[in-house]
Amino acid sequence: MLFKVFPVCELNRLFAVLQSERIVGPVKKGEDQHGRILYDFDVVRDFSDLHLDFTQTIHSAKKYFLPYRENLCTFTFKDGDWQKEVDYGGSAPLIFFGLHSCDINALNKLDKVLLGGRYPNSFYAKNRAKMFIVGHSCTPQPFCFCKSMGTDSAIHGFDLFLTRLDGIYFAEVLSARAFHLLENIDCRDPDSEEHRRYLEAIATRESMFVAHVDTSDLTKILDLEFQAPVWKEWGERCLSCGTCAQVCPTCYCYGVEEHVDMNFAHGRKEKMLYSCNLLDFASVAGGHNFRPESHTRLKYRYYHKHRGFVEAFEESLCVGCGRCGQSCLAGITVPEVIASVRASKE
Ligand code: SF4
Ligand code: SF4
Repeated sequence: MLFKVFPVCELNRLFAVLQSERIVGPVKKGEDQHGRILYDFDVVRDFSDLHLDFTQTIHSAKKYFLPYRENLCTFTFKDGDWQKEVDYGGSAPLIFFGLHSCDINALNKLDKVLLGGRYPNSFYAKNRAKMFIVGHSCTPQPFCFCKSMGTDSAIHGFDLFLTRLDGIYFAEVLSARAFHLLENIDCRDPDSEEHRRYLEAIATRESMFVAHVDTSDLTKILDLEFQAPVWKEWGERCLSCGTCAQVCPTCYCYGVEEHVDMNFAHGRKEKMLYSCNLLDFASVAGGHNFRPESHTRLKYRYYHKHRGFVEAFEESLCVGCGRCGQSCLAGITVPEVIASVRASKE
């Protein structure tokens, strides 16, 4: 990794150099009922719309590489039979400008399943191959527990990562493209004083985390507490709305629907992101539902994140971004659920 510094005023030029491609970044999206600004990822055409001082976006960035709806293939009835066509096309090149460490680590985790797993996803691979990622440091919010999940800093999965210091950006450069990009602006190597200021900024940020999840021996505890009554208590609160999965940067479960046109000449198979908390997630042909109760569905979401994924990849699928807890109308948060399970006594 290389380190560079450049004046804050140069960021506008960096943005302009990248602007020949589609740029997605954090933008303002109104206010909540307490007057707090809401942010979300969107296409940014004007530098002044980019808000790198954002707290957290409502949704993750996943809709740009794991769309909520995606055509898997189309069918045409021709010469007495169905002809199948698959287009892995992928989206146009995409610049992510301002991803926080948690969201970069979320992408790294999705890569493990969707690129490196037993069944690589060609649609995802096409989208992923065309990305350029500019990360940006964050100010920990009261609901962020990424530090507990080991995702509070990103060491790979980006091209350029920016930390704002007084008057300058301290840049971590990971790719050749990022290195050459910086040749377009007034940029230089940092001096020892700037190294010191950068390390000081990291230490200050580290001290700002409030929320915490105790992950020690968590997989064993989840195995031991599979039948704990506390799961039913959370299940009674859960509305089975599926919001948590929709805002989560690492939830990738999906359903598949087949549609046939009324003239029976064309059809398509469509994939849509789904949530394991929705009532019919575990319903199968014949009408049987393997998880008819909300607590079993909620429990399995936690077991996938904090138990099954750890067994498969030796890391949790949760990056501690806190979005699910922030969006949940029932006020269900990961730190509270895990703490209650750890404290369970049957
Ligand atoms: S957002 Fe909350 S209420 Fe909705 S499914 Fe998730 S945990 Fe349940
Ligand atoms: S489970 Fe919640 S806290 Fe964890 S990555 Fe998903 S949205 Fe973020």
